[in-house]
Amino acid sequence: MARVAIVGGGISGLAIGWELMSLGLPREDLIVFEADGQAGGNMRTERAGSFVLETGPNGFLDNSPPTLDLVHRLGIEDRLLVSNESSAIRYLFCRGKLRKLPSGPGGMLFSGMLSLRGRLRVFMEPFVPKGGFKEESAFDFAARRIGKDAAATLVDAMVSGVFAGNARELELSAAFPKMAAMESEYGGLVRAMIGLAKKRKREATRKEASLKAAAGPAGPGGTLTSFRDGFDELARELASRLGPSLKTGVRITSLEKGSPHGYRIIDERGETCFADAVVLAGPAFTSSEIVDHLDPELSSALGMIPTAPITVVATAYKLKDVGRQPNGFGFLVPRGHGVRILGCLWTSSIWDGRAPDDHVLLRTMVGGAHDPAAIELDDRDLMDLIAGDLKKTMNLTAKPVERWIFKHEKGIAQYTPGHTARVERIEKLLANYPGVFVSGSSYGGISVNHCITEAPGIATRLMSGVGSTVNQARDKPS
Ligand SMILES: Cc1cc2nc3c(=O)[nH]c(=O)nc-3n(C[C@H](O)[C@H](O)[C@H](O)COP(=O)(O)OP(=O)(O)OC[C@H]3O[C@@H](n4cnc5c(N)ncnc54)[C@H](O)[C@@H]3O)c2cc1C
Repeated sequence: MARVAIVGGGISGLAIGWELMSLGLPREDLIVFEADGQAGGNMRTERAGSFVLETGPNGFLDNSPPTLDLVHRLGIEDRLLVSNESSAIRYLFCRGKLRKLPSGPGGMLFSGMLSLRGRLRVFMEPFVPKGGFKEESAFDFAARRIGKDAAATLVDAMVSGVFAGNARELELSAAFPKMAAMESEYGGLVRAMIGLAKKRKREATRKEASLKAAAGPAGPGGTLTSFRDGFDELARELASRLGPSLKTGVRITSLEKGSPHGYRIIDERGETCFADAVVLAGPAFTSSEIVDHLDPELSSALGMIPTAPITVVATAYKLKDVGRQPNGFGFLVPRGHGVRILGCLWTSSIWDGRAPDDHVLLRTMVGGAHDPAAIELDDRDLMDLIAGDLKKTMNLTAKPVERWIFKHEKGIAQYTPGHTARVERIEKLLANYPGVFVSGSSYGGISVNHCITEAPGIATRLMSGVGSTVNQARDKPS
């Protein structure tokens, strides 16, 4: 019998497992079930010769202390890889060409991304009163504050880049809580930017020395960071720390109440394990199936969190065929600009060591909530689509010498309107099952940073809860 069982060995489950061990839970009291043959979930790197290919996440922003703290506690900070200076340069494909994203709101006036009317409307933002409603979509929020043109161009592209989502179908406060807070706390986006810049400046003066040491190219609120041998170094390190507690190739199908206490976890081969506490750390749709017998209402609430499919295609070109490494991070494409791909990251420009020096490596995203049918494209149609769209956007006519296709049918959770209420309902129903938790990117944040950030809190709650359950159990004569 385990004290804690974790279902799902993605970054969420691995991080919780490691935090539990750090808090003193002996290895033999922990079991982490992973359906796949290897841990990491979406965080997976494939290596082909000298190419390092991320099948899912590309990196994390270094502005989240818990992730760096985890890296330091694991002692793998020497493995970190910081994105190159040039990745501060980002583009949008709109109005027929690639346009550089301005570094501040002032630059928007001259950027040509928006119509003149659209640009002038953006500058009215500080005069827009607070407003909105509880389940307002990201698009409606942006249209209200910065106008429809900017919402359809800038926000649509940002939502594609983060969630592969549709801005009209994502609840702002769930998907982009920081943006919602900019209005509720500061009264608007421009006011918030000014307020936050002042705050950062004050903090920077205090920590000048350490900040200077950590300085890197400015991404959206942090520097994109990964590991030298690929992002999955983090998952592999955590997996190795969990040692025999991690059971790969075991798909859990059902969770039931144990007798007289705790829970019974059943895998697809019918094997059973008992645990005092259980963390469901897989995507909500799998957790929904697992609790179907335990609590159909909980199962149905979990089943209401949808996902969007996404295909990642890495293409490698001879440098001599392209001419030069593209200068920048890459580009995103808002819908309605005659291009089907969601965007393209210039991997070999962002990172050192992801491709041989005489090659250019790109990573193109296709599909998402706007275009779910794209996941069905066969390889040939997909490659034709990418070749056509990279020609339109980057004027790239070179033929790839290698290509790798990674399909994520249930790619990224979508926090559709009502998401916050749905998660509250899930939490309320879970209260009927002491010691059962859900965790991961389906609920409170889809970034790797978020998954890591919530791990220590869950581990602490588990240790206090599990302690009392176990003690109660031990107090009883067996
Ligand atoms: C294409 C793509 C690009 C992304 N880019 C970024 C990025 O650049 N930066 C960023 O921060 N985030 C990015 N993300 C998001 C990020 O990858 C995820 O949010 C994060 O990896 C989720 O981790 P997780 O552990 O919650 O879930 P997952 O990675 O989904 O892991 C869940 C695990 O549970 C296992 N599992 C499921 N069901 C069962 C079961 N019944 N029994 C046992 N095991 C089970 C699965 O096999 C899986 O390993 C991206 C996501 C995708 C798809």
